[in-house]
Amino acid sequence: MEENLLISGGTLIDGTGSPPKPNDSIYIRDGKIIALGSVKEIKEERLIAEGEEFIGIDASGKTIMPGLIDSHLHCSFDDVQSNDELFFHRDPTLVALVTAQNLKKILRAGITSFVDPDSVHGIGPALRDAVNANVTEGPRIKAGYQALLTAVGGTAGRLIPDEGTIGYAQVVNSKDEVIQWTRRHIKYGADWIKIHATGSIPGRSGELMVWSREEIRAACQAAHELSVPVMAHCREAESIQICAEEGVDLILHASFMNEAGLEAIIDNGASICPTFTFLANLADFGSKVGASPGMEDIFRGEIEQTAKMVRKAYDNGVRIIAGSESGFALTPYGHWHARELEVFVEVLGLTPIEAITTATKNGAWTMLMEDQLGTLEEGKLADLLIVDGNPCEDISILNDKNRIETVISRGQRVVFDDTWPSHDEIPGWKVGNWGDEILTWDKAYGE
Ligand SMILES: [Zn+2]
Repeated sequence: MEENLLISGGTLIDGTGSPPKPNDSIYIRDGKIIALGSVKEIKEERLIAEGEEFIGIDASGKTIMPGLIDSHLHCSFDDVQSNDELFFHRDPTLVALVTAQNLKKILRAGITSFVDPDSVHGIGPALRDAVNANVTEGPRIKAGYQALLTAVGGTAGRLIPDEGTIGYAQVVNSKDEVIQWTRRHIKYGADWIKIHATGSIPGRSGELMVWSREEIRAACQAAHELSVPVMAHCREAESIQICAEEGVDLILHASFMNEAGLEAIIDNGASICPTFTFLANLADFGSKVGASPGMEDIFRGEIEQTAKMVRKAYDNGVRIIAGSESGFALTPYGHWHARELEVFVEVLGLTPIEAITTATKNGAWTMLMEDQLGTLEEGKLADLLIVDGNPCEDISILNDKNRIETVISRGQRVVFDDTWPSHDEIPGWKVGNWGDEILTWDKAYGE
């Protein structure tokens, strides 16, 4: 049954960047925010109708804030450990069922909305529709279909085939194919078009621009003609400049951005989702999970170099957006969605309130729901959290599930099970290694 909720007595962070308001209340009816203010005001102004039943929630000593929006998350990857696994071991039916289970983790962690750029077998839009139709429980979703890659590939090197589709990737081999696939993805329900502007070539260091300017332009034109925005994975300086100049709306990563890239972003009104979390987790905790050694310094360096320019972008009014890249073994669902805010405070020097805005007001932009979502204002959709503690004092508490006391999604309290959702081993789901190490004669018989 639908419940009306009156949450009172908490410190309210509205998500607009305004300072927190102590002892504030919020009234929710039919999935919408009806009123904000003191309980007295709300009652005096008769915003709660005569005889209307509601459930009172005392939030004294706690924080009331918007549900968080993670603008870069791969909900179909199931905390994947390798590209082989992702490309060759994932049955479509199982991907859909496992993803439905993972959505519960994401919601429970306080993420009431997310943007998924690309999904295995392109299930993102169908999953969004399933959640919207109440087939399965989850956050609000905006989704791309598959990422568009040139034959050079993306981050998976030679695993990307010369043509066709694999995992989350669709290979495009000419300007015409770029246009064709952009239109097809929109027909399949994509809210965003995602292009992999940079990719890695085995034996070459870093990522390289693997699209021509004309191809980028073609994708943006075809998408924009159908009122669909474009995001691009850019982990190389020149790609940022070219993508921004040719109309890409959202730059993911923006690694190694230079002055020309920044200027192009400012001039063309593009936004940036740096997605430091994956790199930060590798740099800080990679050794704990046996990640390739030597990566720590490389990723720490990428964060530091990029952060300087992202800060400059922020100071120039560029919209900076929080995205965690959850869905990999280093960024499992439900654990690190708010780490990006922590990193923004650390390396960009944002205040906690400014950092929160990147996952509230700014996230509503990537959700294409700026007028409905992201901030606690009258008339907006009621997605909010009650947090035990004050994230303005310690932003990292937003990653602590024990502190996310109540999640309200679409105006209703999310019911938490006692157990964290998880699944047992699925036959064929993971790549089986012959061994973690090479069995040399010396290893067998030596010291
Ligand atoms: Zn990603």
